[in-house]
Amino acid sequence: MEKYKFLILGAGPSGLAFAHTLLKHGERSFLVMEKEDIAGGLCRSKMVDGSPLDIGGGHFLDTRLPHVLEFLFQFLPQDQWNIFDRKSAIDFGDYRVDYPIESNIWQLPVEKQVEYIHAIAYAGENLGHPAPEQFEDWIQWKLGKRIAEDYMFPYNRKIWSIPLEQLGTYWIDKLPSVSFKEVLYSCLTKEPYGKIPAHKTFYYPIKHGYGAVWELMGKELGEKLALSSPVQSLDIKRKTVNNHLSGAIIINTIPWNSIRLDDISSDIHNAVTGLQYSGIQVDYFSADPGNDDHWIYIPDERLSYHRILNRKTFIDKAKGYWTETNLKRSSETNAMVAVNNHAYPLNTREKPSLMKKIAEFTKMNNVYGLGRWGTWEHINSDIAVKQGIELAESLLKNMKK
Ligand SMILES: Cc1cc2nc3c(=O)[nH]c(=O)nc-3n(C[C@H](O)[C@H](O)[C@H](O)COP(=O)(O)OP(=O)(O)OC[C@H]3O[C@@H](n4cnc5c(N)ncnc54)[C@H](O)[C@@H]3O)c2cc1C
Repeated sequence: MEKYKFLILGAGPSGLAFAHTLLKHGERSFLVMEKEDIAGGLCRSKMVDGSPLDIGGGHFLDTRLPHVLEFLFQFLPQDQWNIFDRKSAIDFGDYRVDYPIESNIWQLPVEKQVEYIHAIAYAGENLGHPAPEQFEDWIQWKLGKRIAEDYMFPYNRKIWSIPLEQLGTYWIDKLPSVSFKEVLYSCLTKEPYGKIPAHKTFYYPIKHGYGAVWELMGKELGEKLALSSPVQSLDIKRKTVNNHLSGAIIINTIPWNSIRLDDISSDIHNAVTGLQYSGIQVDYFSADPGNDDHWIYIPDERLSYHRILNRKTFIDKAKGYWTETNLKRSSETNAMVAVNNHAYPLNTREKPSLMKKIAEFTKMNNVYGLGRWGTWEHINSDIAVKQGIELAESLLKNMKK
């Protein structure tokens, strides 16, 4: 048995941040196991047609956390990033509206504006009804029937590819929040109003893809990072991996349901198999998409993909665009450049109780879930880094006590 104080499963942003925090505090008894031959997880990039392409889908750095920026700039310094004001739109075929639609109804033909505003006025929120706990009902309650039918229902059916009534609403702080008053202000002043939670401005590396910073973080770990080393099995009670590695503490950042978990109760087994996720395929096309938006959302259900990323708008001298398609709607094509089986943890209504059970059992055994898959949370890479730093610091502190 090879023994370590910490075994870290997965070298995505959360595992890398955890490992570097150990090093910063002088702790060297650890190993990071990664199945791919390069670090970075969903944030990896590769060169396609002469320029970088993000193989986990379009990735942009936007954070309100100065210590996370400082942490990342240690590996790829700030002067090696461009900063952009986000420009993204929703394409309805006949017309296009800036994102988010509820702040930009004024860009629509007048008859559509009246239809949408009228429907919002009669939406549950504005009639004083309590907020529903099902995502599908919440959409109509918040945005009214018309925006729901033209955009939110089809788009969300495409990206998640599960019946929307299975999704909860405990995660809606990720969505824009625009009140009816703000909708009216924006229509009358022809300016967007309201709060967009993510990516108002964003950083993207000047010369590389988003993957560059994570690849550099991986390289700096030297032999502490074991690439091309898949985890096949995890015994939580004995704290062993693949039957030949053991950690006094195990940090898991890989999907719980993607490996064999040995010696667990049927209750935990059911919780793990109850976790749902979706995958995406990324396809590349060399043509110019003919607009200057960074990315575009596509609600039209006749088209398989749900988002288009316009490379030239954030990568110098790049051409072409890539699309993101839920794996349930995709097919193998010549344009395919990447398949990510685990892309989005799904926010089903049962997820919070399933994850509570899993976390209680694993923590009791000194196995900690971390990052997007360890916590099954729809988090961005800055939060994955924050969580990695915080968990490492708190475990090191407890060990000293
Ligand atoms: C389409 C899309 C767009 C996104 N856009 C953004 C964005 O613009 N900005 C942003 O900040 N975030 C974005 N994110 C979120 C971002 O990808 C995640 O927050 C981040 O990757 C989480 O890091 P992580 O380390 O927790 O998980 P991951 O990146 O998933 O890392 C997990 C690691 O575990 C490894 N692994 C898996 N199974 C095994 C195994 N059996 N053995 C060994 N290793 C294994 C994987 O290869 C991977 O390296 C986006 C995500 C998606 C899907």
